[in-house]
Amino acid sequence: MAKRIGDLLKDEGIIGEEEIGFALKEQLSTEERIGEILIRMGLTTDSEVAMAIARQSQKEYLNLKEVVPQKEALKALPFTFARDNQILPVRIENNNLVVATSEPDNIKVLDLASRISKKTVECDVASSLLIQKHIEKEYYLLEHPLEEDIKSSLNQAKQNIRSVDIERLTQLLFISAINLRATDIHITPTQKTTHIRYRIDGVIYTFYTFPIALHSRLISNIKIKAGMDISEQRRPQDGRMTFEFLNEGYDMRISTLRTSNGENLVIRILSTSEELYSLRNLGLEEDGIKALKEVFNKPFGMVFVAGPTGSGKTTTLYAALRAINALEKNVLTVEDPIEYHFPLIRQTQVNEKADYVFASAVRSFLRQDPDVILIGEVRDPETANMAIRAATTGHLVLSTIHANNAVGAIPRLKDLGIGDIMLSSSLLCVIAQRLVRKLCPHCKKEYTSGEIEKETFGISPGTKLYDSSGCPDCLHTGFLGRTLVSEIFLVSEEIERMLSEGAHPFEIKKVAINKGMNTLWGDGKLKILSGITSVKEAIRVLS
Ligand SMILES: [Zn+2]
Repeated sequence: MAKRIGDLLKDEGIIGEEEIGFALKEQLSTEERIGEILIRMGLTTDSEVAMAIARQSQKEYLNLKEVVPQKEALKALPFTFARDNQILPVRIENNNLVVATSEPDNIKVLDLASRISKKTVECDVASSLLIQKHIEKEYYLLEHPLEEDIKSSLNQAKQNIRSVDIERLTQLLFISAINLRATDIHITPTQKTTHIRYRIDGVIYTFYTFPIALHSRLISNIKIKAGMDISEQRRPQDGRMTFEFLNEGYDMRISTLRTSNGENLVIRILSTSEELYSLRNLGLEEDGIKALKEVFNKPFGMVFVAGPTGSGKTTTLYAALRAINALEKNVLTVEDPIEYHFPLIRQTQVNEKADYVFASAVRSFLRQDPDVILIGEVRDPETANMAIRAATTGHLVLSTIHANNAVGAIPRLKDLGIGDIMLSSSLLCVIAQRLVRKLCPHCKKEYTSGEIEKETFGISPGTKLYDSSGCPDCLHTGFLGRTLVSEIFLVSEEIERMLSEGAHPFEIKKVAINKGMNTLWGDGKLKILSGITSVKEAIRVLS
C-alpha cells in the first residue's frame, strides 16, 4: 500500500487531521490499526475505506450489497481458499475471473487464484467486512440451493400436506428473504393458495405460492417462535424473534391481521448491520453536499428532513451527524428507536412507559450543555415547541417531519403551533427526499425518449435514456439498490423575511427556485438523464 489508510481517507475528505490525531491517541492504549480505530469510532466505514483504496489503486469499487456472485465464478475457487485469503469470486467474463478483494495489491494471492482457477484473474475492490460475510453466505448457498429445496417442499405439499417439514420450510423462506435483501416478508392467504411475498427496495414481489392448506401450519409455526398466541386468530397480534443465520442475528418484528381469507402475517426484518452513509454517498448532487456541509456546521438553528415513511430520512440524519465534528461538539440524540450506534455521540431512546418522549428528552438535554440535538421526529406541538426553543437558544437542532416537499414543512410547523417570527428566526434548511430504485447496470436497456418524457420531466424527445429490463443479477426485477432523490430548501435572508411576514408557501417556493433550488422532480430528471433510474420509476415514486 503506497499510502496509509489515515492519509488516504484524509485525501478523500472523509476525515481531518484532528480525527487522525484522535485515533493516534486511542492507539496508544489499544494498539489497533488506525483504520480499525476510525471504523470503530464511527468516523469512517469499511465501505468508505474500500472506496478510497479502489480510487487509489485505480480499480472498480464493488458494492457487494448490490451484487449476486455467479455460481460458475464461485465454483472456480474452493471455499477454503476464498475464506483463507478473503477473496470472493464474482463473475466470469470470457476466460477472465473477476474477484472482490480489499487488498488489490496482494499480487501473490491473485496469482495463486489464477493458477487454481486456470483463468486470468482481475480484481474489484470491496469492503472487507462484506467480503467476509459474502464468502460465508455464498458458499453456503452453493452447497444448499434454496430454490430447489423450497420447490421440493412445494411438491411434497401437493402430494401430502403433512409430509412437509414446516420448520425447515420456515427457515428456508427466512434465509431466502435475507439473501434477497428483503426488508419485509408477507405471508398472504388467498382463496386457494398462500403467497410468500418479499419487499425488496421498497417494492413487493410474490416469490412463492403454496396450497392454502399449508398456510395455517406456516403461520402457527412462526407465531410460536415469536411468542404469540396460536389459539387466537381473530385479533391482531404482535411478536418478535431473533433469527440466526451464519453467526448473524436478524431481529424480526411480526404482526398478524385477520382477513376474509385467513390470518395475514407480516415480518419486518431488521438487520443488525445497517450501512452508514456519508453526505457524499447518499446520492446528493455536488452543490447540495457543499450547502449541507455549511448548514450542519452552523452554531444554531433548525434543520428538517421531510418525506413519507420509508423514504430514508433516518439515513440522511445519520449522514448529517457524521458531517458534524463530534470530537469538538456535544451531540445528543433522542430516537425511536436507535438504528445505529455512534461511539462518539450520546444517544438515547424514547421510552413511553418511563415518560421519556421527544419533548421531555429535549428538556433534559438543555441541562447537558449540548451543541447539537437530534430529535427523531417532530409530530406534536410540544415537541415542535421544544425544538424551536432549543434552536433559538444557541443549539443546532436536527429532526424529521412529515411533509410531501421541502416548503411543505412550513405549513406543517405552523399547524403545530409555531409562529411566523419563531419560524423565521430558527429555520435553516429543509431537505425533502424520496428513494428511487437504481436501474440494474447489467441489463438496463437504452431507448429514445418521446412525448411522455417531455410531458413529465421536460426531457426533449430524441434523448437517449434507459429503461429497466431483467437478468439473473437483479432477480429479473430490472433494479439493484436505491438512491436518493431530494430537494434542498435553504432559508436565505430574503426567505427569512418572507417567513417573518407569513408569506404563502407557494410564493416562498417560487423565490427558492429562483435562487437555484432544484425540486424533487428536477433532481429526478437528473437521475434519469444520467441513466441511474428510469422515467417510470421516478414517476412511481414522485407522484
Ligand atoms: Zn439486471
